[in-house]
Amino acid sequence: MAQPTFEQIVNLAKKRGFVFQASEIYGGLRSAYDYGPLGAALLRNVKDAWWRSMVQLRDDVVGLDSAVIQAPRVWEASGHAAQFHDPLVECTSCHSRHRLDKLDDPERCPACGLRGSFTESRDFNLMFSTHMGPVAGEGNLVYLRPETAQGIFINFENVRRVSRRKLPFGIAQLGKSFRNEITPGQFVFRTREFEQMEMEFFTRPEEAGQWFDYWVEERRAWYLDLGMRAANLRLRAHEGGELAHYAAATYDVEYRFPWGWDELEGIANRTDFDLRRHSEFSGKDLTYFDQAAGKRFFPHVIEPAAGATRAAFAFLIDAYHQEIVRGSARTVLRLDSRLAPVKAAVLPLSKKPDLVEVVERVAGLLRPRWDIEVDVTQAIGRRYRRQDEIGTPYCVTVDFDTLDDQAVTVRDRDTMAQDRIGIDALAGYMADRLGG
Ligand code: ATP
Repeated sequence: MAQPTFEQIVNLAKKRGFVFQASEIYGGLRSAYDYGPLGAALLRNVKDAWWRSMVQLRDDVVGLDSAVIQAPRVWEASGHAAQFHDPLVECTSCHSRHRLDKLDDPERCPACGLRGSFTESRDFNLMFSTHMGPVAGEGNLVYLRPETAQGIFINFENVRRVSRRKLPFGIAQLGKSFRNEITPGQFVFRTREFEQMEMEFFTRPEEAGQWFDYWVEERRAWYLDLGMRAANLRLRAHEGGELAHYAAATYDVEYRFPWGWDELEGIANRTDFDLRRHSEFSGKDLTYFDQAAGKRFFPHVIEPAAGATRAAFAFLIDAYHQEIVRGSARTVLRLDSRLAPVKAAVLPLSKKPDLVEVVERVAGLLRPRWDIEVDVTQAIGRRYRRQDEIGTPYCVTVDFDTLDDQAVTVRDRDTMAQDRIGIDALAGYMADRLGG
């Protein structure tokens, strides 16, 4: 099946209200987006699926929700204050700015096509800064976190103590991160405000290698389990020069986006860099005492770091299908039911009050357990098409026979097969298919 084009995805996202331009009524804020009802549900489902697999289903990982703004020393210790730079060039002709390391041709401006028009490249720190309190000044300069990971490292000892965990164990966190990207773009792929899902897995130094291999495979499997097609997913090892200053080894999980392979998630062996640095900078001992071995050391860290907004976008692209059904085109999002924003739509065949009344009763049975939608407008064929386009796995139709047989027709999004199910048995039928 051919990949959808970038335009098809953006058009669907806008038309159905997955994503809106931020500040749209004021002319929009460039490269910033708001998630509409369906997009918010999809994003929440992606985050829930991550949390379930990383925290809820595991005995060796616990959760955390740390502050976006931390003491500035955190970013000195992490290296972000000194090292979190991208090389920035500006075109002297059209004044567009670009990341030098991301240009296909470092001599040619991709905006206006001129050659040799770039300024000298300069380092640009990607952290957003602001001030704490009413007076802006040197002393109260703070940063919005550019990753959620550091909130975990600085809480290592707090969490270890209260959760009474022994190595190996992990701390997971998801939430907003901010980077003043020079060239945001490709819709929600790279934005300045985005959501991350990160987990720091603390191990004995000698076990870090095996846990690294474990987490690379585990994270790849997560995307596959949620229905992403294997042909669109690959692992890529970072080469020597590409490795971050803190990493001994890194694999990227990459997705085949409409513009080519690009990063979904990075899994890094961060060694003991972070705990060691935070110990040095804070003066607090962040070593671990291994009772069995009778020694103290800095744990090593394996970090799977994913983007929630980026993953939601990739799942949307991967689910997009266009097909011809009985001579007419149908767009269908084949989202895994765990990710689908709406699990079932309840539709009366007509707007007749006695049918609508049954629809309300059926909806009332399903609503406490699943996200459902009731739609009474338009011809039934159009309503099916809309539900296919937003990825709703099941349409439950109440028709005139329902009044006699107390049964409804359940239509499967992917096969379009229809089952006649008694209203009494409907919740059980759905639970078998949707879980919950
Ligand atoms: P890049 O090199 O593309 O700027 P990175 O390698 O610095 O990204 P990480 O620091 O490893 O990214 O961040 C982990 C994950 O967070 C990324 O794999 C991605 O999914 C997500 N992410 C990072 N930056 C952004 C962004 N600007 N917009 C959306 N998601 C992002």
